[in-house]
Amino acid sequence: MARYTANKCKLCRREGMKLFLKGQRCFIDKCSLSRRDYPPGVHAHRRSKMTDYGLHLREKQKLKRIYGILERQFRLYFKEAERQKGNTGANLLVLLERRLDNAVLASGFSYSRNHARQLVNHGHFLVNGRRVDIASFRVRPGDVITPASKEKTVKMVKDAKELNKSQTVPDWLEVSEAEMSSKVLALPKREHVPHPIQEQLVVEICSK
Ligand code: SF4
Repeated sequence: MARYTANKCKLCRREGMKLFLKGQRCFIDKCSLSRRDYPPGVHAHRRSKMTDYGLHLREKQKLKRIYGILERQFRLYFKEAERQKGNTGANLLVLLERRLDNAVLASGFSYSRNHARQLVNHGHFLVNGRRVDIASFRVRPGDVITPASKEKTVKMVKDAKELNKSQTVPDWLEVSEAEMSSKVLALPKREHVPHPIQEQLVVEICSK
């Protein structure tokens, strides 16, 4: 699946908030947003008041960018969220949270979402003992995520875990430091989504 490969900090500057796309760099002074807190582009300072459509659009773009998803795949997620019972916005967020790359990141096994996606795509993780190299793979309760037994992979995951030791693992996952594994205890809920997203705005623009 295609992915955004250009400058990620520009995405944060466009959305006017930290999207945490670059791992540890996002938490230190080197964060571009702390130095250039205005949208990218030569006419950045001339922008006029945001329209209602603009507000909706920005919310959708923000959500896509946080999870590293492009429009086509996002639409598929939205259609599926609509088909499910319950609140479409919450369903959409839960579907995104259940992506394998997100579970790897939330478990503290990677430095950033991009790193998590790369590790998964390169076959560095097993789910229930079987290699899964699809970042959008949807985890289910009972699934156990472990790094492949290659020495290099285990070292990479240990290093990331050490760097992320202050990170709180959401309670839908249970990480075992000793076994270097993460078990999915339950489906994530809306309240587990750590990002400030107004999903109703996303639903409104996607339903048009
Ligand atoms: Fe966004 Fe991280 Fe870049 Fe800061 S360092 S602008 S939070 S991607």
